[in-house]
Amino acid sequence: MKRSEVDRDKLSPMMQQYMNIKDNYEDCIIFFRLGDFYEMFFDDAILASRVLELTLTGKNAGLDERVPMCGVPHHAYSSYVDELIDKGYKVAICEQLEDPKEVKGMVKRDVIQVVTKGTRIDSNIDSKDNNYIANIYDFSYCFGLSYADVSTGEVYATMVEGDNDKIIKEITRNGFKEIIVNDTIDREIVERLRSDHDILVTITKEELESDDYEYIYKNIEDIRICKTLKHLLFYILENKKGDLHHLQRCVVVKSSNYLEFDVNTKKNLELVETIRNRDRQYSLLWLLDKCRTAMGSRYLKYNILNPLTDKEEINRRYDMVSLLSTEFILRDDLINLLENIYDLERLVGRVTYGNLNAKDLIQLKNSIKVLPDIKKIFDEIKFDKKIDTFEELYELLEKTISEDAPFSLHEGHLIKEGYNKELDELKRISSGSKDFILEMEQTERERTGIKNLKVGFNKVFGYYIEVSKGQCGLIKDEYGYDRKQTLANAERFITPILKEKENIILGAEEKIISLEYKLFMDIREVVKRYVHKLQKTSKVISEIDMLQAFSIVSDNNKYVRPKLVNERVLKLIECRHPVVETVMKDKYIANDIVMDKTTNILLITGPNMAGKSTYMRQCAITVIMAQIGCFVPCKEAILPVFDKIFTRIGASDDLVSGESTFMVEMKEANYAIQEATDKSLILFDELGRGTATYDGMSLAQAILEYIHDKIKAKTMFSTHYHELTVLEKDLKQLKNVHVSAVEENGQVTFLHKVKNGAVDKSYGIHVAALAKLPKSLIDRANDILNVYEKKNIKKETFTQTSLFEYSDVEDSNKKNPVEEAIKEINPLEMSPMEALNFLYNLKKDIKKLK
Ligand code: ADP
Repeated sequence: MKRSEVDRDKLSPMMQQYMNIKDNYEDCIIFFRLGDFYEMFFDDAILASRVLELTLTGKNAGLDERVPMCGVPHHAYSSYVDELIDKGYKVAICEQLEDPKEVKGMVKRDVIQVVTKGTRIDSNIDSKDNNYIANIYDFSYCFGLSYADVSTGEVYATMVEGDNDKIIKEITRNGFKEIIVNDTIDREIVERLRSDHDILVTITKEELESDDYEYIYKNIEDIRICKTLKHLLFYILENKKGDLHHLQRCVVVKSSNYLEFDVNTKKNLELVETIRNRDRQYSLLWLLDKCRTAMGSRYLKYNILNPLTDKEEINRRYDMVSLLSTEFILRDDLINLLENIYDLERLVGRVTYGNLNAKDLIQLKNSIKVLPDIKKIFDEIKFDKKIDTFEELYELLEKTISEDAPFSLHEGHLIKEGYNKELDELKRISSGSKDFILEMEQTERERTGIKNLKVGFNKVFGYYIEVSKGQCGLIKDEYGYDRKQTLANAERFITPILKEKENIILGAEEKIISLEYKLFMDIREVVKRYVHKLQKTSKVISEIDMLQAFSIVSDNNKYVRPKLVNERVLKLIECRHPVVETVMKDKYIANDIVMDKTTNILLITGPNMAGKSTYMRQCAITVIMAQIGCFVPCKEAILPVFDKIFTRIGASDDLVSGESTFMVEMKEANYAIQEATDKSLILFDELGRGTATYDGMSLAQAILEYIHDKIKAKTMFSTHYHELTVLEKDLKQLKNVHVSAVEENGQVTFLHKVKNGAVDKSYGIHVAALAKLPKSLIDRANDILNVYEKKNIKKETFTQTSLFEYSDVEDSNKKNPVEEAIKEINPLEMSPMEALNFLYNLKKDIKKLK
């Protein structure tokens, strides 16, 4: 039964209430609170029962048929919500706004928050990762992009000039999971974000009108950015509904302030996760993350994805890293103190938003307790940023919040003794009466002579005196026992005095709980006043935490302080790939990467598996490490500040978009060529191998020439096409290097050592042998290779070209290659399958020749 087809007039009042609420949240699954359950109805129920594997039942709602329904217990709802959110749905939590005991008829209900991927602030979100919600505002000629982490309060915005590709690259690079777009946006963007990148996209045109949150964008002059932010803020406020004043002033991001790279570079260099398992382990982030706080880890990740371009700021970070390494005893002290700091940023978010509990305040207290000692260390190392020490706040929390307070705010035990007189008095009354009851057991036993008489308590009957059936005869009227409950082998009684004490205890307890709640809320209001200061301190703590991590990693792995220069000179002596080195330990071979003023392109040749892509990757990773302010895996490092990095490494087929490897490769190449400047770094690994040899080779050459003459970016270009090495003669800024291998008794050993000049052998077949292809096949390949090498009169070098293609450019006097190939075979030694394959290949090659 569909919701839209229902005759609403026939519905029960509660179901009508549901329908009215659902009308406003069409794109959400509504968790409708009914007593101890959250129920879902109609299509929501059908979908949720399938996704969450719940039993689908029905509810009588006044119609001929029962309405589809499923439900979850209210105390366990969050895991169900999480599962729906992870699968890309939005959930609207609809609560009872009145106590059913206190109202006649139907209770008021409304949605108190909408939970979506990008606006989650519950404790299940990854503490080491930001959780951003972003929006795109299409201004026809450019895009506004803003994003916020509702849990930490960070807000950023930027303008993106360019076409649809550009904005999509920006979105994917940042890894946003949920995006809001304005309604005039090109629908192609929406489609691509949804289908190619599995991003939750909501189209909405509303913008924030009230100026309650004006401080977020007040100082921003660009009205486009303000508009973009208002669009984002409307959605966040509409969904979260609570107080979000922990949202911070927006930081406007200028692309020129950061080293730019796209999502492919992020993937190829395995900056935050590995390509193969999409795992944090063995990524650069994993290597560098020796942070002690969750905030530090998040800040580090942000930096890895947004390295700096401001030389002064980078040098400032180097100074700190170097100082922390020198003052390693202070660094150890600092690390020990940082261990005590909880996720202040997210704690602060909970203070304003309202889902704060007493344990959070204990964590806050323990965190700020160490700040004075951290401040002392800052003074000693002359750290140029300041933190507050929040002594007053610490004292308040110390004297108020009970150390072993429960999660719930409605059970009491929140507030320490000595803070509030009224509370202490109530507690005294309650415990005095409790003592009286405890003593009563003894006095009643003596009075009645019933040895096993007990005084107990249960929620339904309150306090009672329990006497076993066999002893009941000993009870006299004068005792004033009044029978309340009969059990199988005992009777329970109350007495006027017991009732009186019970009233005192229960009355006091009720008052205690509500007073404690009120006091807690008052304390929360006080904490709220510190929110912005706490956020500022958190930022400084995140930074020092990241810097101490750099210092530790740099010391442990013998990294050096880079020297940043204005000239376009790159000199990385004994450079290593930091992650591969960590995994391989001593076996890793360091290599120099040198491009002086007159060298812009390194053309890298060498057999497969020699280490060409690792060599290129280590260059880019070194640049990124240098520009986040970390020391680098080299013996000596001199480099300029780069503006952008472009990479095309490996065959990361864009299977989703249905484009061929080659098409993707060419698009990537085009992107680099269009966007790169002479301050950029380009890494092209085997560009052009996705097409026929001569096609690929010609394209590779043309691209090299283009970069050489027009762009002048520092470029590393690895290639299989040994023919390209002759370019060194004509392209003055191109230098050949090769990764060597040695062959002994037919066995090849990779030395992974990069040397000047071009390589003269490919060892492809050796690699195939290492991969354990059948021996007969390898022998055959060697035979064929011998034939090719004999024919190849042009140069000594081996090429990947097939004999037939090669002969195409050789002099026309050459014999017919088909004829030659036939001469080479011995049909008597061939299996029928080999013969068939041979014939098939001949036919293919003849076609190519034509
Ligand atoms: P290519 O790109 O030339 O095919 P890769 O860069 O993929 O080669 O490297 C192949 C393997 O060689 C890597 O998995 C790595 O284990 C090893 N390797 C690469 N460079 C080095 C090095 N400098 N020292 C030691 N081992 C290396």
